[in-house]
Amino acid sequence: MIVNFHEHPYEGVGEHNASLGIDRMVLLADRDTNDLVCDMAEREPQRYIPFYRADVNDIPKSCAELRHYVQHRGVRGVKFQPLSQSVMPNDPKLYPFYEVCQELRAIVLFHAGVVAFPKHYVRFGNPVQVDDVAWDFPDLRIVIAHLGGNYSYEAMVICSNHPNVYMDTAYLHFFCDRSLPQVQPIELVARAVRFCGPEKILFASEDVHPSLIADSDLAEETKKLILSGNALRLLDEQ
Ligand SMILES: [Zn+2]
Repeated sequence: MIVNFHEHPYEGVGEHNASLGIDRMVLLADRDTNDLVCDMAEREPQRYIPFYRADVNDIPKSCAELRHYVQHRGVRGVKFQPLSQSVMPNDPKLYPFYEVCQELRAIVLFHAGVVAFPKHYVRFGNPVQVDDVAWDFPDLRIVIAHLGGNYSYEAMVICSNHPNVYMDTAYLHFFCDRSLPQVQPIELVARAVRFCGPEKILFASEDVHPSLIADSDLAEETKKLILSGNALRLLDEQ
């Protein structure tokens, strides 16, 4: 069993993941694809795990929508893209929404790292404010995407400080190519395992293949945790 904890809905996504040996995947919705990811998960519940995208400019509506999607459409978490949503993770306006996430056991995944979108402010790409959210909502399960992107050190510090903060390995090649000093994706994963513990790292793809983990020198038990064990535990399936 291999779980990809960070995927986006596109034509052929299931087949592409299957060709890499991936059995299940978290599908992260955009604002206009909340129903699409739920429809996909309803058709193939063994394959897809839907995550909701909130409207950060209408939190009361998003709280009500999230309740609906969790209770009736199988949603298991929420994706924030602070760069394109122009919001800091610790913005007080989001706190009522986090209350609902914590109550519903919805996992909150934050994009981290600066990517080449037009006019995106760097401050929204830095995950350091996730620390505030983790202190204020100790039962909220949080995932920092891309091992923190350009901010892997900050992400590892936060992840190692909070029992409910995890990191995913999506799109690592992009960020590793742009890191100073340069680092190979598997070296960064190994560093995260050493720093935060093997139970904190979730395999995720976006061009990262499971073989990066499976064929590495990591301990066999660590590989199992990263490729599926941690994800299944986080999803309350193990
Ligand atoms: Zn992504």
